[in-house]
Amino acid sequence: MLNELRRVDPEIYDSVRNEVRREHVEIELIASENYVSLAVLEAQGSVLTNKYAEGYPGKRYYGGCEHVDVAESLAIERAKRLFQAEHVNVQPHSGSQANMAVYLSALKPGDRILAMRLDHGGHLSHGHPKNMSSWIFDIASYGVRRDTERLDYDEVRAAAREARPKLIVVGASSYPRAIDFAPFRSIADEVGALLMADIAHIAGPVAAGLHPDPVPYCDFVTATTHKTLRGPRGGIILCKAAHARAIDSTVFPGSQGGPLMHVVAAKAVALKEALSPGFRRYQEQILANARALAEALAARGFRLVTGGTDNHIVVVDLTNRGLTGIEATHVLDRVGITVNNNQIPFDPLPPTKSSGIRLGTPAVTTRGMGEDEMRQLAAIIARAIEARADKTVLQHLRNETLDLADRFPIYPGILRRLYEQERGAYEIPGGHP
Ligand SMILES: *Cc1c(COP(=O)(O)O)cnc(C)c1O
Repeated sequence: MLNELRRVDPEIYDSVRNEVRREHVEIELIASENYVSLAVLEAQGSVLTNKYAEGYPGKRYYGGCEHVDVAESLAIERAKRLFQAEHVNVQPHSGSQANMAVYLSALKPGDRILAMRLDHGGHLSHGHPKNMSSWIFDIASYGVRRDTERLDYDEVRAAAREARPKLIVVGASSYPRAIDFAPFRSIADEVGALLMADIAHIAGPVAAGLHPDPVPYCDFVTATTHKTLRGPRGGIILCKAAHARAIDSTVFPGSQGGPLMHVVAAKAVALKEALSPGFRRYQEQILANARALAEALAARGFRLVTGGTDNHIVVVDLTNRGLTGIEATHVLDRVGITVNNNQIPFDPLPPTKSSGIRLGTPAVTTRGMGEDEMRQLAAIIARAIEARADKTVLQHLRNETLDLADRFPIYPGILRRLYEQERGAYEIPGGHP
């Protein structure tokens, strides 16, 4: 396995092998990450990367597209079925590219977009000053209420009346509550705006029918394929038939060149997996795990933003614990738990420090962990933060996460083959490959 890579480029081989090992030995609680299936990996690692396929199935600018056409047509058909969408474009290279394509197709430079404030949970591509969305468009924003830390649809309506945007964006990167899209449709209609939902994070629960569905209400829905949807890194756009031509021509040739056909094929595989019965059970377990993690953390005295979660995300406010989000991230790194620091609404600290951390359950759920393991993780997190100055305690907790990792292996076959081939040249701490 990876023998040719090892021979040709040992440094890159090391990078890949070490990442396989890291993914096994660390507990991944970054809400936006997941582990794809071996079938997705194989499709993405295939010779489809060689093919230029500018255009769309049956309408390409290059010859020899008959096989990649099959892959892209299947991806489109499966996404349409999964989300009950009128039209789908599977070519966006990422979620940010999908969002830009919608903006560029629906708006003219200088037009106004109303989106969720970034420090309340919105995404960079919703108008961060250093993102091109804000260089090209005029960004107005809405946020959550200070008292509930939740969206208040009346406040959004007031913001829309004030801003008179051409496009309203609904969706977030770190909002732990369900979003109702019907009031957003009514607000958009009142001010004459188009409506886009960005379900990058919640695509999995939406597809499984476990989160309110934006598709009936929105002109455009964008998503990533690599978060809860558990596919390859990439983006996807769903839209009403009336916008189909504009979206397709804005993706290509408007804002991208040749599609990444190996990734498109891997998206098709992930969408097939998402249409299978096991997927709904997987999404239910993600949500059950997030609730268990939230309850166990709250029971240990952590203040949770909004008091809990409706989705796969838990945002923890560390203000009463005497450390910042970035400090907590470093402490948890030392015990083998990977998270990211995150601002809380009305955070007095800048994003680089931040008062909170964001946790998510898609990756640990893919490993097979359930509510018992979430309670164990909450206990480890609490102990680590409490005893952060005590090396012995941290070492003990690290051993506990290694045992947990060994009980729920990820890519065990890949790890074993790499290990055997190197004859134990590197050690897998805490257990057997
Ligand atoms: C992750 C995310 C994106 C973009 O994802 P990339 O693929 O990293 O560009 C867009 N919107 C939201 C709300 C996200 O959380």
